[in-house]
Amino acid sequence: MWTPEQIRAIPQLLLEWYQANARPMPWQENPDPYHLLVAATMLQQTQVETVLPYLERFLQRFPTIRDLAEAGEEEVLRYWAGLGYYNRARNLHRAAQQISRRHNGSVPCRVDALRQLPGIGEYTAGAVVSIACGKPEPALDSNGYRILARLLAFEEDITLSSSRRQLQEACRQILPEHAPGAFNQALMDLGAMVCTVREPRCLVCPLAEQCLAFQQGRQASLPVLPPRQVGEKVQDVCAIIEHHRRWLMRKRTDGRLWHGLWEFPRVRMEEGETLEQAVRRAASTVGAQIDGCETVAVIRHGVMHYSVTLHAVRCHLREHPPEGSDTLRWVSPKEAQRLPLSSPMRRVLGKLMQKREK
Ligand code: SF4
Repeated sequence: MWTPEQIRAIPQLLLEWYQANARPMPWQENPDPYHLLVAATMLQQTQVETVLPYLERFLQRFPTIRDLAEAGEEEVLRYWAGLGYYNRARNLHRAAQQISRRHNGSVPCRVDALRQLPGIGEYTAGAVVSIACGKPEPALDSNGYRILARLLAFEEDITLSSSRRQLQEACRQILPEHAPGAFNQALMDLGAMVCTVREPRCLVCPLAEQCLAFQQGRQASLPVLPPRQVGEKVQDVCAIIEHHRRWLMRKRTDGRLWHGLWEFPRVRMEEGETLEQAVRRAASTVGAQIDGCETVAVIRHGVMHYSVTLHAVRCHLREHPPEGSDTLRWVSPKEAQRLPLSSPMRRVLGKLMQKREK
């Protein structure tokens, strides 16, 4: 796969570049396995710049694995709210509980042990053991796969597991035993700063001489990816039910994407249904009869393969209020801000708060 010259040159060139260009990361001073575990989990599907403030807040509140293990799920989700992909938070919480029980509160420095914990895949396990424990394991995120695919002019779809296995193996061959953590981070940084998805900056790339894609002028068409799915357009409605300056919110318990988060009762609009009918249906899911509806926000967002338009409609109760419960609460605006919400619901709440201030 690689020539002997590449096996020698690529890690050396990459590490020299990294020394001069590394992005400062909070774990560089003290690469604690628990901090790495949280950081790598947050970094799955989310950019570094977005992650850093969340990471700081999260580690301030849960400074050790035991603090995280002993916290309630609702609080963990609240500190995750806004990062999206909430299964990551739930899995991290469960992993912390298992580490407390099975590993006496110490994150194991072994890929096989980490992989048995919920939500920990090759990338997260590799990042923890290479950066925090100094073991020679690859930690390939999307940046790493892209760079290796370009260096090798790799012709297969890089999202396939067979391709990933081949690229992992290629990475192992050039991973330096003396600096695996720096090498893995260098790949991530090079992918973020130089070998970017669009318009890679090959003329300033330290690996240009080693890169087949660049030499063949194919850097714009590699890596090979599956055909893009066009997002199906759907319309959702949420009912903001007001009563004595409080809003009725419910907790999702459907085991799906936003399980455990709170929301204004929300439904998907059906074919032929008017906005008003959909709002009444949303309100009826929490046993409320409503009147006097007014749209206060229209939010567009993507989720899974859907392109969603969410209509947030404020309305008043027509009859006596439904009783509160573990999954249904009348909350003040201040209380609503402290609940764990999905990003779209947080945006709806932001619009409501703006309207209250006017
Ligand atoms: S030469 Fe270009 S395509 Fe190749 S690794 Fe560098 S930036 Fe990426």
